Amino acid sequence: MFSHRSDFLRHLAQTSPEPMGLEIVSAKGLYLKGIDGKRYLDLISGISVNALGHQHPLLIKAIQKQSRKFSHVMVYGEMVQGPQVRFAKLLSSCLPEPLQSVYFVNSGTEATEGAMKLAKRATGRSGFVSFQQSYHGSTQGALSLMGGPYFTDAYLPLLPDIQQARYEEPESLNAITEKTAAVFIETVRAEAGAVPVSIDFLKKIQAKCKETGALLVLDEIQTGLGRTGTLFSMEQSGIVPDVLLLAKSLGGGLPLGAFIASPELMGTLSHKPVLGHLTTFGGHPLSCATGYAQLAYIRKQRLWEMAQERSAEFREKVAHQRIQKINGLAWLMGLEFDRSQTNFAVLKKALELGLVSDWFLFNDRSLRVAPALTIGSADINKAVGIIHRAIEAVGG
Ligand code: PMP
Repeated sequence: MFSHRSDFLRHLAQTSPEPMGLEIVSAKGLYLKGIDGKRYLDLISGISVNALGHQHPLLIKAIQKQSRKFSHVMVYGEMVQGPQVRFAKLLSSCLPEPLQSVYFVNSGTEATEGAMKLAKRATGRSGFVSFQQSYHGSTQGALSLMGGPYFTDAYLPLLPDIQQARYEEPESLNAITEKTAAVFIETVRAEAGAVPVSIDFLKKIQAKCKETGALLVLDEIQTGLGRTGTLFSMEQSGIVPDVLLLAKSLGGGLPLGAFIASPELMGTLSHKPVLGHLTTFGGHPLSCATGYAQLAYIRKQRLWEMAQERSAEFREKVAHQRIQKINGLAWLMGLEFDRSQTNFAVLKKALELGLVSDWFLFNDRSLRVAPALTIGSADINKAVGIIHRAIEAVGG
């Protein structure tokens, strides 16, 4: 079979000196098929995207059905497009008051950008607080929130008035003041290696936001739609943010993001100036139709419960003396090794043995575990077997 590898390296902009470079010819369920004819068990679902696995028949049907009716017809927000409205209504029915108004965008970083603008517009303030080792996207506003100088220093100056607080250190919340428009948080520090934030600390952040009038923005881009064992991870702390960010799995494998707030808050984007946030493709009908079909299925099957049960089974089975710590909630998990070299060697060996995983942006000692929520015991056993064989092959 013809390989695109050399053209990939020459004609596709590269972002890493060592891309994984696996060439995929097809994908189904939990498996990717490589050009080498090998099947690879996908333990990361395109980085927390394919909640139902690859090519789920329900999603294919939703794409086909909508593509026969209409695809792109108009920029966001002007025409009444059934797939957007139906999906926004379904999402709202899964969320607590006052999170009932959905602004669809194309990606996670755009959801962050939209929320930053909304917070500035609604509060009349310009300051933001985010947390160390946090990732909210790669465009310049979202990058300004990023908690790690390695990734931001080359792009300075970014937005001013941004401070980084530290999770689990209450005194660092003094960065939140009457000048803060919004505080961006995650409930599980996804790119720090899937480290959950304590409920007590989340409540402290919320209290500080209330005290100062800063909006609380919760990034559930990676944790959303069942991955952490509840439909939204915020259900585990009872925290209801002013703005909720979703993306990744939202479009059932097609590009889709959203920032969600109260109708009153969101209303500020429609005057002074009008068109306070614009997007041509945000809420694409195909993405919304697929997202709707996926969320309806997740809800009907209560897949977050399956995620809880199966991830507990995996946790128990994967434990190994060379794995120092298992972090995370349900299927947003990190297996931490002694050092990054061990992790890289295990990842490489696992790929040879037919398992795809990855490391985390701020934690290269940890191996990422974020499979489709539908993974069953047979594939769990297979993944654990490969991880253990890889660990043993790598040696001490
Ligand atoms: N927030 C979080 C928590 C993420 O994990 C990501 C993507 N890794 C983003 C925001 C940005 O999403 P996108 O890549 O779709 O812009």
